Amino acid sequence: MTTASDRDVERPGLGVTHVVGAGLAGLAAAHALATQGRLVTLHESTPGAGGRARALPDGTDNGTHALIGANRAALSFLDAIGARQFWLEPEPSGLPVFDMADGSARLVSLSPFGWWRSDRRPAGVTPGAVLAMAGMALPGEDRTIAETMRAHPAFLRGFVDPLVIAALNTPSSEASSQRLGQVLRRLGAPGATRLLVAQRGLGPDLVEPALAALSLAGAAYRPGHRLRAIAQEGGRATTLIFQDNETPLGPADRVILALPPWEAQRLLPDLPAPEAHAPIVNLHFALESTGPVRFLGLIGALCQWVLIRPAGVAVTVSAGDSEAEQDVAELAPRAWAEILQAVRAFGVAGDWPEAPPPCRVVKERRATPRHRVGHIPTPPRLPLANLALAGDWTWPDLPATIDAAIRSGLAAARALPA
Ligand SMILES: Cc1cc2nc3c(=O)[nH]c(=O)nc-3n(C[C@H](O)[C@H](O)[C@H](O)COP(=O)(O)OP(=O)(O)OC[C@H]3O[C@@H](n4cnc5c(N)ncnc54)[C@H](O)[C@@H]3O)c2cc1C
Repeated sequence: MTTASDRDVERPGLGVTHVVGAGLAGLAAAHALATQGRLVTLHESTPGAGGRARALPDGTDNGTHALIGANRAALSFLDAIGARQFWLEPEPSGLPVFDMADGSARLVSLSPFGWWRSDRRPAGVTPGAVLAMAGMALPGEDRTIAETMRAHPAFLRGFVDPLVIAALNTPSSEASSQRLGQVLRRLGAPGATRLLVAQRGLGPDLVEPALAALSLAGAAYRPGHRLRAIAQEGGRATTLIFQDNETPLGPADRVILALPPWEAQRLLPDLPAPEAHAPIVNLHFALESTGPVRFLGLIGALCQWVLIRPAGVAVTVSAGDSEAEQDVAELAPRAWAEILQAVRAFGVAGDWPEAPPPCRVVKERRATPRHRVGHIPTPPRLPLANLALAGDWTWPDLPATIDAAIRSGLAAARALPA
């Protein structure tokens, strides 16, 4: 990859944009600027890029990441880095949903427009329940989703709860109806509910193509380079103080901070930022499979989503407050027993041993902010004259997701003074 000094010699006089944080927000900001011909240096504190959507050193994803057709910014970014073809739709006929309570197995359309077919409806659908859900897409009083859907418990359990957990990583008993409304408003467009997953993993299908595209565009990348502090004067950032060096900023140099909220607030203490976060627990079973990629939903179970790929079987437990306190010996046998029931119900191809294969648990304790009822603390995009903020939590129009992170990165790149 190009070094910062090589490029500065090639294009003297152009200021450098320092993007700090190589999660999706930082990668998107750096890519947008580098492809516009800007000098860009991307700094990352850890040895690898991707942030909360990354591959661990052995190649395992930190957690299953799904996109939907409505995530237009994310899909455009995949196009821009040449990775769109790596993301596939595992369940084009409808999401297989297994209910642990009664052992029922059904295919569910994620789009209400698909519910005209009786064999694609979730449990508990009635016209009143659909209206109550659609009402959350309209501006109105912010209430918990459980309260909003109180009159429709079967539909809440069979469709809304899983959607809320997936989209907001917050249980319906505390999640905001207005936050869910932001998601629901985007689901009406054709193709908006198509569900996509990375075929191999976040490393080869997202992070590595993003770094390759950055390199091609001439950006410099510095992993293992933690920003410790920012010196300021007169409303401008004047020096970036990294763990191992100090980078003084010239008049044309600019900064994008693409950090998680707690880290941005440590560097700029007056920033409004979400304080409460929710965990996501992922279990990775080492079971090679030769069949197609599959994605199953489970209701009334520890496992909420099960992703089956050649590299293994991954289980997602979002809003897993109590699961984050449990260890692999407790979680793995429970999860595996549920997986066996679900794969048998749907006739998923492969050898499924009775005993759980080796399992690894990854706990992301601050996976996303808790999307509770009430005010969303929103920081300014440009808190200093030469410094813009990015990060999933800085995009108030969507819950914290890859799409929000990418939109925020692009907005930060646009907000900087020329
Ligand atoms: C397990 C899990 C599952 C998820 N599932 C989904 C999903 O299915 N769909 C979806 O859309 N979203 C999902 N998300 C959310 C999604 O991952 C995040 O919204 C998104 O990745 C956030 O990107 P970001 O760039 O805003 O922040 P981050 O990814 O947190 O990036 C910030 C980067 O800054 C670096 N950094 C921190 N401090 C410093 C410093 N001082 N100096 C330099 N660098 C620093 C960090 O190491 C990190 O790389 C999931 C998240 C998790 C954890």
